[in-house]
Amino acid sequence: MDEQKAEKIDWYSIKEAAKYLDIGEPTLYRWMRDRKITFRKVGDSTRFLQEDLDAVVEVHHSKCDAAEVKTRCTLCHSEDVVPGVYRTTGLNFFQPRKSKFWSLHTSSIKSEAVMCANCGHISLFGDTAKLAKLRLQQKQDQEQSDPPAEKAEA
Ligand SMILES: [Zn+2]
Repeated sequence: MDEQKAEKIDWYSIKEAAKYLDIGEPTLYRWMRDRKITFRKVGDSTRFLQEDLDAVVEVHHSKCDAAEVKTRCTLCHSEDVVPGVYRTTGLNFFQPRKSKFWSLHTSSIKSEAVMCANCGHISLFGDTAKLAKLRLQQKQDQEQSDPPAEKAEA
């Protein structure tokens, strides 16, 4: 019996996936190894769905989309979202886990929120510029207190 006659799914092979993403196959293998991309095993064969490939595209090309995510609901994709702040008894802050070098005040990142008028989903957004500064500060603090770490990435 021919099992491939069953429901037709548009699978991408490794070769096709690399072509779709316009990357080399070695890069794709590295992403798979590093779990940067979702992949499926059909028997011994490695396959991708288009959503797996598109998810990677978002991750690696999201700079220009970063502003746009605040104008669209991440759940139902409605564009009727209302900006605001998410409050309890005060503003909510995101604090990076590694914050021992910073005071509470300097390591707190203010959040903004949008609420979808269609489905009610509330999305929180932190200040990425402040996070970038904190990460920079963290690197400097580590270099001052630790011996030079071995370079994991070139
Ligand atoms: Zn929604």
